[in-house]
Amino acid sequence: MNAKKCVICGKPAVEKYKAFCSARCANIDLGRWLGEKYVIPTDEKPEDEDYKDKDEES
Ligand SMILES: [Zn+2]
Repeated sequence: MNAKKCVICGKPAVEKYKAFCSARCANIDLGRWLGEKYVIPTDEKPEDEDYKDKDEES
């Protein structure tokens, strides 16, 4: 029995597309995945402030 549902739209999933009902839904999931990566903000501070102090001596 194939009781899997598409994780995107809830329609019956097709074996060919694993957990999705169609290539479109597979792409949507992939897009979300990649999108989340880009959304993560970088909280790193630049660590070359010491450099600036040295340059100002001139
Ligand atoms: Zn779907």
